[in-house]
Amino acid sequence: MAAETQDATRDVVTRWAWVEVDLEVIRQNVRAFKAFTRPPTKMMAVVKADGYGHGAVATAKAARAAGVDAFAVATVDEAIALREGGIREPVLILAQPPASSVPLLARYGVMPAVYDLEFLACLGRQAEESGVEARYHLAVDTGMDRIGVPWDGVAEFMRVAERLSGLRLDGTFTHFATADRVSDWDFTLQLNRFKKAVAALREAGVNPGVVHCANTASIVLHPDAHFDMVRLGVGMYGLHPSEATVGRIELTPAMSVRARATRVVRPQVGEGVGYGMTYRVARPSIQIATLPLGYADGLSRRLSNKMEVLYDGARWRQVGNICMDQCMVEVEPEIARLRGRDVRPIEAGDEVTVVGRLGDDEITLDELADKLGTINYELACDFGMRLPKRYVNAGSLLD
Ligand SMILES: *Cc1c(COP(=O)(O)O)cnc(C)c1O
Repeated sequence: MAAETQDATRDVVTRWAWVEVDLEVIRQNVRAFKAFTRPPTKMMAVVKADGYGHGAVATAKAARAAGVDAFAVATVDEAIALREGGIREPVLILAQPPASSVPLLARYGVMPAVYDLEFLACLGRQAEESGVEARYHLAVDTGMDRIGVPWDGVAEFMRVAERLSGLRLDGTFTHFATADRVSDWDFTLQLNRFKKAVAALREAGVNPGVVHCANTASIVLHPDAHFDMVRLGVGMYGLHPSEATVGRIELTPAMSVRARATRVVRPQVGEGVGYGMTYRVARPSIQIATLPLGYADGLSRRLSNKMEVLYDGARWRQVGNICMDQCMVEVEPEIARLRGRDVRPIEAGDEVTVVGRLGDDEITLDELADKLGTINYELACDFGMRLPKRYVNAGSLLD
């Protein structure tokens, strides 16, 4: 398998556990979403949280190759990482950062979301000083009560904002709390408030710039919310935002999590495994294989004794408490043989799939998220935090 470590200066395998990201799959997913939009609607790829754990720069480049126009992140540091990684397209920070970061915004040419006049004044002063107009997007709170100028106060906000110099309103946006439901009263209320806010700006003689509000779910479910640009997040990584989009768009997950067994033993019956010995070996035919990834790598400890992995065409239970950096799985070729399957005894160095496809079976982030009572978004972010990333089907994207 053609594999690249994220750190090109160190092309050495330093860990037998990794996140595999298929960049061709990301391109395909982006194209699948583009088919839901019509020109001249633009597409912004949301690569916050290191590209939902997939690696921000690499996934941004894959999305760009599939025709994305702009990028969004959550923090100033993430925006800088994109610039330093060679992304030249517009970059929007989806929240208003601390005013102390304004010089960095100017230096790297990235746009903040704005909803506070004091911050905006600071942005304007910096623009005057540097002689370069500062672009920003106006965040509008239409009912999520997270960030933004309240929807019925935008005209008043801009009346004051327009007295500040050095600034350019590049876009106006809101975010939906319930876009992942097919038909929803709260969604319709937010959409109507957003339309009213944009109309109020125009009536006041303010050009709202690029108008945008659709996240992944809205791209598929709410074409009436596309406006000038859509913001594609979780979907480009091949994950559904909820059940509501399943069956409406064909997506392939880009992330797999794999590991190689670092040690294999065949303990005596009754021996315990791991901290607290929450599992005991029940049959002499059971092999216990150690995998070098644990809860610090995103494999939540709450999955202990509750999840499975794929090895040699079969599912095997994870056993014992998941440790910080390691976990154990049981493999029992004799049991497989009784079920008519020939499974090779596992040996140190053999590859195990923790998330992803192996043969015709697949362990999805959704499967693990269901067990944890959370969403695929969170698990993708978690797996991305410490595990090294290997990109496959990168072509010349990362050269
Ligand atoms: C994260 C985020 C998105 C992307 O949402 P998905 O559901 O992943 O598509 C879009 N807009 C804002 C403001 C966000 O915070």
